Amino acid sequence: MDGFLLTYEGFDPGSEGLREALTSTGNGYLCTRGTAEWEEADGVHYPGTYVHGGYNRETTILSGLPVLNEDLVNLPNWLVLQLRVEDGDAIRLADVELLEYRHDLDIRHATAIRRLRFRDRDGRETTLQSRRFVSMADVHHGGIEWTLVAENWSGRVEVIAAIDGRVSNAGVARYRQLEGRHLNPVGPRTFGPEVIALKAETRQSNLYISQAARTRVFRGDQPLQVEHRLYQMEDYIQQLLAFDMRQGVAARVEKLVTFYTSRDPAVSDTLVKAATSAARHTDFAATFERHAAAWEDLWRVCDVQVSADEGVQQLLRLHIAHVLQVCSRNTADLDAGLPARGLNGEAYRGHVFWDEIYAFPFFNARMPEVTRGLLMYRYRRIGEARAAAREAGFRGAMFPWQSGSEGIEETQRVHLNPVSGHWEPDLSRNQRHVNAAIFYNIRHYYQTTGDLAFLRDYGAEMMLEIARFWASIAHFNPERERYEIHGVMGPDEFHEKYPDAAQGGLRNNAYTNVMVAWLCDVAYKLVALLPASRIEELRERLGITDDELAVWQDMSRRMFVPFHGDGIISQFEGYDDLEELDWDAYRAKYGNIQRLDRILRAEGKDPNRYKVTKQADTVMLFFLFRNSELGEIFERLGYALHADTVQRNVAYYDRRTSHGSTLSFVTHAGVLAAIDPESSWQRFLIALHSDADDVQGGTTKEGIHMGVMSGTLDLVQRCYAGSFVRDGVLHFDPRLPSQLDGLSFPMQFRETPIQVTLAGGQLTLAVKPEGVSRPIRVGAYGDVRELCPGEQTVFELSHNPATMLISGGPAARNLSAGIERRPNAEVPGSDLRRRRRASGLATRKGMARVTARADGVQLARHPRPDDVGAGRLHLPRLPAVRLRQAARERRPRRPGLLPRARCRQTGRRVRPEQATDGRGAHPGR
Ligand code: BGC
Repeated sequence: MDGFLLTYEGFDPGSEGLREALTSTGNGYLCTRGTAEWEEADGVHYPGTYVHGGYNRETTILSGLPVLNEDLVNLPNWLVLQLRVEDGDAIRLADVELLEYRHDLDIRHATAIRRLRFRDRDGRETTLQSRRFVSMADVHHGGIEWTLVAENWSGRVEVIAAIDGRVSNAGVARYRQLEGRHLNPVGPRTFGPEVIALKAETRQSNLYISQAARTRVFRGDQPLQVEHRLYQMEDYIQQLLAFDMRQGVAARVEKLVTFYTSRDPAVSDTLVKAATSAARHTDFAATFERHAAAWEDLWRVCDVQVSADEGVQQLLRLHIAHVLQVCSRNTADLDAGLPARGLNGEAYRGHVFWDEIYAFPFFNARMPEVTRGLLMYRYRRIGEARAAAREAGFRGAMFPWQSGSEGIEETQRVHLNPVSGHWEPDLSRNQRHVNAAIFYNIRHYYQTTGDLAFLRDYGAEMMLEIARFWASIAHFNPERERYEIHGVMGPDEFHEKYPDAAQGGLRNNAYTNVMVAWLCDVAYKLVALLPASRIEELRERLGITDDELAVWQDMSRRMFVPFHGDGIISQFEGYDDLEELDWDAYRAKYGNIQRLDRILRAEGKDPNRYKVTKQADTVMLFFLFRNSELGEIFERLGYALHADTVQRNVAYYDRRTSHGSTLSFVTHAGVLAAIDPESSWQRFLIALHSDADDVQGGTTKEGIHMGVMSGTLDLVQRCYAGSFVRDGVLHFDPRLPSQLDGLSFPMQFRETPIQVTLAGGQLTLAVKPEGVSRPIRVGAYGDVRELCPGEQTVFELSHNPATMLISGGPAARNLSAGIERRPNAEVPGSDLRRRRRASGLATRKGMARVTARADGVQLARHPRPDDVGAGRLHLPRLPAVRLRQAARERRPRRPGLLPRARCRQTGRRVRPEQATDGRGAHPGR
């Protein structure tokens, strides 16, 4: 099972939480942590089961004040299977001597496996192998199989199979002061001798959850006659199965479970439905076979194969499997958003942020129905987004930073700083940029799929309402003759406000303003893209006037972007005035300084005062837009984007970024792919290892990071293989690190499946001869070809990644022409060095060393978060070649010649000095 196994040898209580999160099993409908069936929540173990949309609100009284939070609820624990031998206590890992212990995730079939051999207090030696899965084929089904062998004894055993509703949300230590009780019991029931069932209800949202279990014991293929005993309470039901074990003869226990909630379609009473379904469950083997076949089908569409490196291969597949366990085809028809921490833990309370921007490229090119479903989650909440905009004094739709059941703002107003132990104000709701991300996602979904029906019926409405929101939060500054946005913050959560300011928010976050300039242009042009009847209907219903369109067009040309120094885009206005931090001193004092905000606050300092950035903010622009696209946006705005703008800005912010969100490693890896392949690879490796190795020291056990996991897949497909869609053509502009030579993955473009292979200096695109396939247009380096079903085409990779600073334009072609590609396959040196170098684990500084960890995940030292960022790794300076002449230089534009704003009330053009409201001529507030 090469590349498909995550293995932990030996039991380690300190790592168990992390292992539980990483060996979770799910199917895009529900997900369960990889907790041992026989353990309870006790500080080491934490059983948790979560379904999409299973939210509940509770109020906590904190220092006399009510604090309301919505949480993704930990559902009744369906795992419980315990073993008692000869009337002894139920076996727990802490009470036995472990002779062998191994815990695996079979990545290929998303199966959690434990194999242990133990000696109990009476000297009995027993082997227990457990396998469990949540069915990808039958979404309401899951199964556990135990194989028990009495090694040196014979005797009577009891297996306890239970469903336990006495659970709470207690998985995140920081939240423990907050109310964690979310379930009320409804009741237990039995259905015949084999099926037990339990129903619970969420306390505020009145969601019913029912689970049923059918447990049987087999010797060989034959069911064993066992003695049944039942015990039930209103929130717990257990069945005790007693039988005799003979030394050396295996007994198999099968617990087959079903899950239903009142959000499911085609269900009347969830309890009856769960029980009926459990009674119809065939057996473990047949259910598992269907599940495994569904996964095989997924791998055909989603696998990413890299021939060079086993470790990279394994982690990419781990990421694919986890992303699919949270969002699969089973998610497409649910009312589900993309929870930032998966369905694997309780961090961020299961809320939906902007992380989907990192995940959608993967889905768009494989299972676009998943993106469509997740975008529909937003559409269904557009009413709340409109109300939020209205209540804040704006127009259009303002989607919340953190979203849950209803789409209202779920961001908490205070959060606990675990370093200081103090509750601190949380102003992060001002991250209005999530609205630009939603717009961007719709646009890219449409570009990749050509799904005009979605755009027509749902997407366009969201895009227009989002553009309208931005136009109303922006104001026109007559002195600058530009539009500005105040009172928001960018992705960098260390800067929520100006030092000493009473109000939250900043002026002119560059990332936000450029996104707005871009989206205003797209929104303006959208009108021409949609069928006339639909756009007329939409414009009439939403009341979009010609004047409003003109304002959007104007904003696309006159958003303000702050700069300082020599071509550095200021993260926000005034960033340059902030104090520099002594990074080395902080690193020396604290070691890992990724969460500098917490460290500084605990020292009584305000991070807002310093040039310290949590994660890519300005740098996001270079990640989301190709340089040629960004060039067009800047040109329209009348700003110069020089050939080395990207490089100098990335270097500037890299020195001031602590990468306190691991998303930042993905972003920096992406932008560095074209500038500095080695640095890019190092960051890619950190992102790839970030959950497996828990680089943030304790966050992964609270839930995987969906954005980072899917972001690494996006890096391979979009940044390294260089895929992008423009004008209906699927282009490739590869910047393949030598470590990825031999890369191959399937994609789907406009319903046509393609196999992409980059190997030996060639890019091969093969269109599968499938019934639904139709001709598509593909291109590399400007050479566009048509491909029909069954055909393949080969492009020579003749570009040196490091020279492709600004690609797409003719200047870039000329620049790279004649420069040889870096050799991919051959790495000089001894075998060991070659292998290490091929995997990127050896660095120039020679810091690689083999560590051969017992868990088999990591074979050599790879770059750690503290190795990069904040000036640790300096980017090489490339010659500052000016590829695109600044628009301003070519077409001098004096401020006085810039188009005037329009007055929204009268529709007449106004001169800037006619502005009356102190915020400029642009009305809307
Ligand atoms: C990051 C956000 C992200 C959120 C959820 C935060 O730490 O700063 O950008 O959306 O985590 O993953």
